[in-house]
Amino acid sequence: MSVLSYLLDQENRIVATGGGWDDAALSSGGAGAVSEAVVGLPLRDFVSGSASWSVLNALLYQSRLSGKRIKLDYRCDTVDAARAFRMFLVPGTDGMVLSSHHLLWSRPAKLRRLYRTAAENEPAVERCSFCNSVRRGPFWTDEVLNGGVHPATGQVEAVVYDVCPACREMARKAVDGHPEGILPPDAGPVSAPRRDAEDDLRAGMTAQVVPLKRAAGVGSPPGRR
Ligand SMILES: [Zn+2]
Repeated sequence: MSVLSYLLDQENRIVATGGGWDDAALSSGGAGAVSEAVVGLPLRDFVSGSASWSVLNALLYQSRLSGKRIKLDYRCDTVDAARAFRMFLVPGTDGMVLSSHHLLWSRPAKLRRLYRTAAENEPAVERCSFCNSVRRGPFWTDEVLNGGVHPATGQVEAVVYDVCPACREMARKAVDGHPEGILPPDAGPVSAPRRDAEDDLRAGMTAQVVPLKRAAGVGSPPGRR
């Protein structure tokens, strides 16, 4: 799984998926997220939290407005591993944007963290949807990568999704064309990209976006958040 990609129309609806999308969706248990089920749906349906969406929406808007590619690193952890990805937003014609996602590295989680989105008015901690840090008091901490003490490992914790100050700044720089990565300073990539990300991007644009498959009457697949 070196590249996952999807193509958005001018309304930010998913009109095609590519790369290893279905393999990744099925291996992570998201049978409802296979391309047949997500094509035709708004990207907004797959982003947790209004703050997260407003940042991503701003990046998409800026890529269309400037006609330039935007790059941003983010984390998408599993229960067992911290994983960093690099996202490219590449504007095309008619307001289309290709969004491709490249695995940068994966490291074993120091603590197994299980999260669920909190119910309305339920006590919850904030979790950054870009770097996966959680806020304990005034501090944002990367507990998956660095460990932590609250709560006990294996416990399911209710969270609300937000964007931490560092990631807001990172997104602002990405819009300005000066992106910064989120690689930990002490770590070289554990699983280096198979090829240069630029090559992957070109491959994704030419070969790996599957033919347009518009969904007809798609309901709410079980994998949606
Ligand atoms: Zn963050």
